[in-house]
Amino acid sequence: MQKLCIVLLIFINTFFSAQKKYVLVLHGGAGTITRENMTAEKEKAYRAKLTEALKAGYAEIMKGKSSVDAVAAAIIIMEDSPLFNAGKGAVFTSDGKNELDAAIMFGKDKSAGAIAGVHTVKNPIKAAIAVMKNSEHVMMIGEGAEIFAREQGLEIVNPDYFWTKDRWEILQKLKQKEALKNPLKTSQNHLPESYEVDQKFGTVGAVALDKDGNIAAGTSTGGMTNKKFGRIGDAPIIGAGTYANTQVGISATGWGEFFIRTTAARTLAAKMEYQNKDIKSAAGEVIAEIEKMGGDGGLIALDKDGNIAMPFNTAGMYRGAVTENGHVEIEIYK
Ligand code: ASP
Repeated sequence: MQKLCIVLLIFINTFFSAQKKYVLVLHGGAGTITRENMTAEKEKAYRAKLTEALKAGYAEIMKGKSSVDAVAAAIIIMEDSPLFNAGKGAVFTSDGKNELDAAIMFGKDKSAGAIAGVHTVKNPIKAAIAVMKNSEHVMMIGEGAEIFAREQGLEIVNPDYFWTKDRWEILQKLKQKEALKNPLKTSQNHLPESYEVDQKFGTVGAVALDKDGNIAAGTSTGGMTNKKFGRIGDAPIIGAGTYANTQVGISATGWGEFFIRTTAARTLAAKMEYQNKDIKSAAGEVIAEIEKMGGDGGLIALDKDGNIAMPFNTAGMYRGAVTENGHVEIEIYK
């Protein structure tokens, strides 16, 4: 009997130490990302950037920095890359501008910061963090957010900095399509035809778990191509596209209006908090509800024990995670 117990104990021990503990998870957007419309070169570039972002965030955690620092380090790399729809490479509004949104939340004390509709802040995630740490507010928009960012000493750029040829051409294609359609036919449940060419949304987000066991989640985006000027998506809305508490952190990507209407990120956390659901079931249910309503997209979530979930209902989602031992995993397709 005693022998049996010892064997059982060894088995349980090995089993649990074999369970991976993740410390950082990130996404680079969900959409029609298929092997058919991907070149080997492009895929390599995405994998390299996602790896670089994961490693940058991981390095912060290893140095003993906070989860907020880790999320920032990962997101800044993606904001600076034209591959993603955040910072440089952001998509265009219907009037040909780049309007950027970002948010951060620190689970320990539920502090949060967000900015929306900015045109000149090079790294919107830094401005969101500045709102969280250095202001009495949670969310700032437009010109006010830009003045605040400048006062905070953040890098301000000419709006042209965000312009990229690829994103501009996508807007032109959508405009041509739009000219043939009746815009009055659009509603919250029907994506206008004029959105359909670009389903590779490309928003970026990260969730980290630091050495003190604290979770932070952040998201940064240019929104959706051809969005109406002044439109704000889910990314900067705490509880919709971004959320963290002491148990779990979430960053979403996809058709933002649905993530706002389902308060997606907070709903996931509430399922864990009030219904004792595990992270994978809670995350899966949130995406299932969005799908049922006609929306699409995905999310990443990381809990206090280092478990992750990355569900999505699109063809692909750029995503990756790193374990506490520094093992990097990247996936793109379903
Ligand atoms: N969720 C973002 C928005 O609606 C877009 C995206 O994730 O690609 O603004």
